[in-house]
Amino acid sequence: MGIRVSEENRSVCRRCRGEVVANAESFDVFEQMHYTCFHYEFEHAGDPDIECTAGGCPAAGISVASLHGRIGDIEMASAGNTIVPAILTLRRLHFDVTQDADRWVARLGRARFVADDPVTLLGLIKLAENRTPWRATDSEIDDVLAEFDL
Ligand SMILES: [Zn+2]
Ligand SMILES: [Zn+2]
Repeated sequence: MGIRVSEENRSVCRRCRGEVVANAESFDVFEQMHYTCFHYEFEHAGDPDIECTAGGCPAAGISVASLHGRIGDIEMASAGNTIVPAILTLRRLHFDVTQDADRWVARLGRARFVADDPVTLLGLIKLAENRTPWRATDSEIDDVLAEFDL
């Protein structure tokens, strides 16, 4: 048994003094804290409202503000000088990156992405991250075709 700050079966967070309910099973794993409190105590760097690079950051839910916060007022264009940074970013996201003939392949667990260049690989990963399922419906396709020349 770990040292629990508790009355009967209630687990009280060492950081915020609130009752731990959702992750009560992992009370000792998270050093007798809420997962969120543990994350902000030991893992998170920088502004607590901006998602950090540790997996499971609670700030991920504030995605519009945090994405803009992380991107800033940058202006980029796809060109030769974005290829190496794209490969380095894929590696930082723990993808295994290989070249298969003239195509680029990124793997993470059983997920596999194939594209003509590393920047497009990153785009596919962002697409998979943001849409489940990623394919567009017929009505979505009609709406977009009415707006853009594809
Ligand atoms: Zn707490
Ligand atoms: Zn964080």
